[in-house]
Amino acid sequence: MHTFKSDYIVFSAPSGAGKTTIVKELLSKYPDELALSISATTRPMRSFEEDGKDYFFLTNDEFTKAIQEQKFLEFEEVHGNYYGTLIDKVDFQVKIGKVVLFDIDVKGAESIKQKYPDAILIFIKPPDKETLRDRLVKRKSETEETISLRLKRLDFEYEQARFFDYTIINNSLEKAVQDVEEVIIVK
Ligand code: 5GP
Repeated sequence: MHTFKSDYIVFSAPSGAGKTTIVKELLSKYPDELALSISATTRPMRSFEEDGKDYFFLTNDEFTKAIQEQKFLEFEEVHGNYYGTLIDKVDFQVKIGKVVLFDIDVKGAESIKQKYPDAILIFIKPPDKETLRDRLVKRKSETEETISLRLKRLDFEYEQARFFDYTIINNSLEKAVQDVEEVIIVK
């Protein structure tokens, strides 16, 4: 078993920076110790996604109801859709002894830090903007319009990186995962 430096480890990045791949790799390396916080969203499901595994896909009405019932630790509008972290899901994982990984936007990350000051915030940067654009185009689930929406948010996101505990550049998956391990695991 490994000892982690916090029960709450938050990853944010411009979309296409490879954050989700890094998070998935960590989950598969430490399946008994780590768990993913599965968010709720109003974004349409992508063809390769599964409800309850990638997200809980909600209608706008369902999402609004969950806000009113105070089910969210935090929620934000990102790229025109709502995304939120479900309190119950996070509490349950911590209760059973898991370290929770969050894959959320920069504003959500700051909210988590306010609620859990010992949370570790990690900002993942792509090597450069061109690589980012290429990755978004290759993803094929994005249209020109959503790609440009996502790229427009980039400057804001980079600006927010200064609130994070660590910035890790994702040149290669293996190295990025090593860099993350360095800052989250007690040696
Ligand atoms: P995508 O649509 O590519 O899955 O996610 C778009 C953005 O929303 C990403 O930056 C992702 O990390 C963020 N996101 C996903 N879930 C949550 C959440 O629960 N809260 C917040 N604040 N952002 C989220």
